[in-house]
Amino acid sequence: MTRLLTSWVSIATLSSPFYSRKLGSFLFATVAQFWLWVTWGTSSLPSSQRNEDGELVQMPLKLRQYLRVPVPAHRKAITRLYLSAHRLGIEVLRYAERYRERTPRSWRLCRFCRRAVESESHALLGCMAKPELAVLRGDFLRDVYDLVPDLPRIWDSVDTFLLALVHCRKFDVTRRLAKLAFDVFAVYAACEIFKPAEYLYTALE
Ligand SMILES: [Zn+2]
Repeated sequence: MTRLLTSWVSIATLSSPFYSRKLGSFLFATVAQFWLWVTWGTSSLPSSQRNEDGELVQMPLKLRQYLRVPVPAHRKAITRLYLSAHRLGIEVLRYAERYRERTPRSWRLCRFCRRAVESESHALLGCMAKPELAVLRGDFLRDVYDLVPDLPRIWDSVDTFLLALVHCRKFDVTRRLAKLAFDVFAVYAACEIFKPAEYLYTALE
């Protein structure tokens, strides 16, 4: 009886104009995805993206440049960089955990220098407190300026320069940035993150 009632409700629901449209859209999307899979080898529907002139254009989703980095560890590192899925303070301290409250952004300070927010750009391009980081950065900058001599030599900020590197269409730059991200994340992982005492508490509080 219950099953019969459920079937009747389902038929009555689907036959309403709203659900008919929903069903139509679903069928259209399924057929479109199948067509894309046959034609392009991808099941993603076209999406709007901005071209070089800033105009919105329809284009199928495509394999991104950073996903073609050949070294798996470097590819994972640059993916973590782009998706903010790393262990730098700016992300880790964003969330509360046991015995630690969420830390405001301005207090998520670099574990080495404690003078700036431990952001991606600071870690990769800004921190001067760790000689190892300075060596990695020096090698990286020498390589990318060899690859793209017209990259800006004077930066407005480390954020804008990192953005220029991310948007650079030269694959070798992306590959080199992936290696830098891997090396820098390893240096940071070897040291405990800085947790300001103001946002720590004990079980007795
Ligand atoms: Zn620092």
